[in-house]
Amino acid sequence: MTITSSDNSIGLYVHIPFCLRKCRYCDFLSFECHDERALHQYAEALLREISTRYEEWPYKIVDSIYIGGGTPSILAAEDMKRIMDGIKDNFTVADGSEITIEANPATIDEQKLETYLESGINRISIGTQSFDSTILNLLGRAHDKNDALNAIRTAKKAGFKNINVDMMFGIPGQTSKMWRDSLRQCIFLRPEHISLYSLQIEEGTPFYKMMEKGTLEPAPDRVDREMYHDAISMLQQAGYNHYEISNVSLPGYESRHNLKYWSYREYLGLGPGASSFIGGHRFKNTSSVLDYLQFIKAGLPPVKQEDVEHYSQRDEMGVFVFTGLRKTGGFDIRDFEDTFGTDFFDVYDPAIITKMRGLIEMNGFVMKLTEKGLDVSNKVMAEFV
Ligand code: SF4
Repeated sequence: MTITSSDNSIGLYVHIPFCLRKCRYCDFLSFECHDERALHQYAEALLREISTRYEEWPYKIVDSIYIGGGTPSILAAEDMKRIMDGIKDNFTVADGSEITIEANPATIDEQKLETYLESGINRISIGTQSFDSTILNLLGRAHDKNDALNAIRTAKKAGFKNINVDMMFGIPGQTSKMWRDSLRQCIFLRPEHISLYSLQIEEGTPFYKMMEKGTLEPAPDRVDREMYHDAISMLQQAGYNHYEISNVSLPGYESRHNLKYWSYREYLGLGPGASSFIGGHRFKNTSSVLDYLQFIKAGLPPVKQEDVEHYSQRDEMGVFVFTGLRKTGGFDIRDFEDTFGTDFFDVYDPAIITKMRGLIEMNGFVMKLTEKGLDVSNKVMAEFV
């Protein structure tokens, strides 16, 4: 039987919170792990969560799956195959679903990639960040330039037809030339999708401590913005479509899973720290891996009461606008009105359009950020939340 995606279909996010080593800038929920047994036990726990969550949401069709982290490719290929089998056995996965795995260049080989493809994974997101080994070394990444090049070539050779490459800018010591050279290299490899990240120095990270000690100087805002605009213009000239603030793709390769987040669609998160928005509820799995394992062992949903988020309808409206404005095409205010059953301008003062002149624009029913607005998107979005 052919099962197709519908407006009711959800995205499934699966979190793998382990990495080969912790990058110096990283504040994601991830831990260095080299213990194969522990990784295998984690995969087992995830499988148990997959089967219990199905009981809660049996009516939902899944049409996108995103296996993120951390570094999902750190798991043995066989464990990843079992996770995929578990998902297919317990959820209704629509034909043609987009199924993505994040991978670190230092953790993949042809055989692993073939197993991914056999298990139904059809999109790979490679955490490249740069093609400059000096920069990769400073970031504390577990790979160098050659690993990055090999990973992308190997993914293509293995048969992946939808590859994302993550690229990072605004890194201390990174010159415009270094950034442009890395981008040129990336364009030459022609991945279908490229995500652009501006380095944020977050509290608690080694980079933050270095910054406090004065041994690391953050890139000035002006340089960060110049690098962003350089990237967008180079990528557009190379045929990429700038469809979201930080993402470009070749036509037809926009990330279907991430578009769910930006289009107020439902998703279910599995694994520690994973967030869900489903059936009108927002909640997050416990961020403690140990607590997570205990919940699963006891056969309980891994959600602590304090991790159930209570959003008012006004909060939800803010989320709708905030995420919708991330898309360069903006959002249709009629969709807002269909979703919330109320007139957009009864909720938001029409004067907001005048106040934000030059930063947002209305074309008919569509509201979007202008070029200038993209640079100060957080300031604009704050007006709506
Ligand atoms: S690979 Fe990604 S998740 Fe892991 S430590 Fe580095 S930035 Fe964090």
